[in-house]
Amino acid sequence: MLQIEIDRLNKHYAGFHALKDIDIAIPQGSFVALVGPSGCGKSTLLRTLAGLEKTSSGDIRIAGTSVIAKPPRERDVAMVFQSYALYPHMDVEHNMNYSLRLKRRPKPEILERTRAAAETLGLGNLLGRLPKALSGGQRQRVAMGRAIVRNPKVFLFDEPLSNLDAALRVHMRSEIRKLHERLGATSVYVTHDQVEAMTMADHIVVMRAGVVEQQGSPLDLYDRPANKFVAGFIGSPAMNFIPVTSGADGQSLTIEGDAQSLMPGRNLAPGARLWAGLRPEHLSFTPVKDGVALDAVVEAVESTGSMTFVTAVLGPHHLIVAHGGRPGVERGATVRLHIAPENIHLFDRETELAIS
Ligand code: ATP
Repeated sequence: MLQIEIDRLNKHYAGFHALKDIDIAIPQGSFVALVGPSGCGKSTLLRTLAGLEKTSSGDIRIAGTSVIAKPPRERDVAMVFQSYALYPHMDVEHNMNYSLRLKRRPKPEILERTRAAAETLGLGNLLGRLPKALSGGQRQRVAMGRAIVRNPKVFLFDEPLSNLDAALRVHMRSEIRKLHERLGATSVYVTHDQVEAMTMADHIVVMRAGVVEQQGSPLDLYDRPANKFVAGFIGSPAMNFIPVTSGADGQSLTIEGDAQSLMPGRNLAPGARLWAGLRPEHLSFTPVKDGVALDAVVEAVESTGSMTFVTAVLGPHHLIVAHGGRPGVERGATVRLHIAPENIHLFDRETELAIS
């Protein structure tokens, strides 16, 4: 069953087209991440779902009913903001059950729902504290508690972890994901962090300049990016791109500014101007089965301990190689980089669309 359907949605601010013909269908219970660079329209889309922004055209349906004309409180959605938006003068309990008190729910029900949410979030012993006496992670939990007590059909998250330090962010990612599974609700999560999207979501929507560039499962986007933008956005470190031209035989790719060529194992139109996309983790210092090889000179070696990132130069091009462990290569050395032909992504240089 589809929980959220967004059909040809457009949003104009005064003189600015912020959302362009957005189509997204979200099944009940799924965790959807909206990702894209700053200003692409993620927050605007989330706010239109919440009813905090008016739309210019198109429709939004939640559980089959159009909500486009409904105010936020009638949409059965709850939003968790980046700023947490807690009331500073109310303790945790009153922050959490504010919406229920506003709706004048019976007292025993308010108590029970607050208690249940506090238990779920491990906030039971903090109910009497004011927000200023909480850590960042605890405030984040209270903000989620406020959403949970409302028992909404849909949770909307607007970069909820961006104010937390790196370690807590990683911890809260899995907490939010577990919570999502336990509650069985549908979640839409805005982030500019593609790693967060890849690790949390079942379905990722990649946006750029108000347009949905591609949507699908995390591995779908990683394995089959529809265009150069998505290929460069999904994956960390980012995909390497080198400009190539296909030879008269339609088999080999000559690298611009370098004498070497690549054989991607596909038939191509002769003379096609393309980008070859090579993921850092697909480049190997040791031969791979049926692989092709390129010679390059090591310019820099950076190690995190478990991973080593090597910058290798090939003519005017720089390639990042991600190697699990220590590859034992040094700056200035000539290395041979191997890649399996099926891991060579190709994009048209005019349209930037993927070529299969
Ligand atoms: P970020 O990751 O930086 O938060 P975003 O993808 O969430 O970015 P939005 O906040 O949705 O982006 O903004 C999308 C575009 O709409 C931006 O170019 C922004 O300047 C513009 N915009 C947002 N709100 C308004 C407004 N009230 N009036 C005019 N333009 C606006």
